Amino acid sequence: KILVPFVGLVLAFCFYSKEDFKPEMLKGKRVIVTGASTGIGEQMAYHLARMGAHVLVTARTEAKLQKVVTWCLELGAASAHSMNGSMEDMALAEDVVKEAKRLWGGLDMLILNHIGYTYFNYFDGDVEHIRKLLEINFLSYVAMTVSALPMLKESGGSILVVSSTAGKIGIPFVAPYSATKFALDGFFSSLRQELIIENINVSITLCILGHIATETAEKTVSHVMQKPGAPKEECALEIIKSGALRKRELYYPYAAVRIPLLIRDWAPEFLDSLTRNRLNVENVKRS
Ligand code: NDP
Repeated sequence: KILVPFVGLVLAFCFYSKEDFKPEMLKGKRVIVTGASTGIGEQMAYHLARMGAHVLVTARTEAKLQKVVTWCLELGAASAHSMNGSMEDMALAEDVVKEAKRLWGGLDMLILNHIGYTYFNYFDGDVEHIRKLLEINFLSYVAMTVSALPMLKESGGSILVVSSTAGKIGIPFVAPYSATKFALDGFFSSLRQELIIENINVSITLCILGHIATETAEKTVSHVMQKPGAPKEECALEIIKSGALRKRELYYPYAAVRIPLLIRDWAPEFLDSLTRNRLNVENVKRS
């Protein structure tokens, strides 16, 4: 007797909270995409271009960025620009935002997606590696956000932070990476609360991704995963949709990410063992 109204309420909530995404939502919007020379970032740039957005893409490799810019213009971007350099350098993080202001006079969407190189193996005790990774994967995200907030406040814009299941639960062999992704959750979830308290119309979407079939992921983790990664093109589109709809969090692929998160607080040890059992641990060789 209790179950029927409960299910009804859940369904009503699901339908009530669903707003439709339309590609026109991005038409003419001014968007920065970091880490857009390859992988999910590159695919996001192409989707945005098809939707008629202005894009500014960043990464270290200039030649790859040039190709992305050319292709974005072919696909219909309102404008496409690039800026190259390493996000270890906080000055670059700030300069990218300044470049958006110079080019467009404002900003509607900041997509923070880049990551520095790390290993997939037992933690090797290298503290310096963690410090460097924190600078690239975390501090530069904070620096860009600080620089971009005045423009985003003006436009009622959004910040999309690309994170991982490894930023929500303990996954072996990614200790340095995992630390940087947990840091993103702490910082941006706290900042989101402050923006709401202050009635500031800037949304923050934390994108929690599972295994995605990018070249980097295929090279580093495919031998340990028991299932193939989800398509990067679809993943990129889901990230953009979640930002346009100003969602709090995105889970992609939904079931593979959402179910472990639901188990996490109720049965952490069960989830830990499930996580270990879903990896081909024997394929990880100590380096
Ligand atoms: P890729 O390795 O394909 O792309 C990383 C991007 O970051 C590239 O454009 C790279 O370009 C750039 N980059 C690397 N080092 C630096 C640096 N020091 N400074 C600035 N830019 C840099 O990654 P994915 O597409 O696989 O991942 C994208 C996002 O998705 C990441 O945040 C990742 O954590 C997240 N994610 C991915 C998953 C997956 O399975 N693929 C799973 C969970 C989360 P360049 O080398 O030219 O600098």
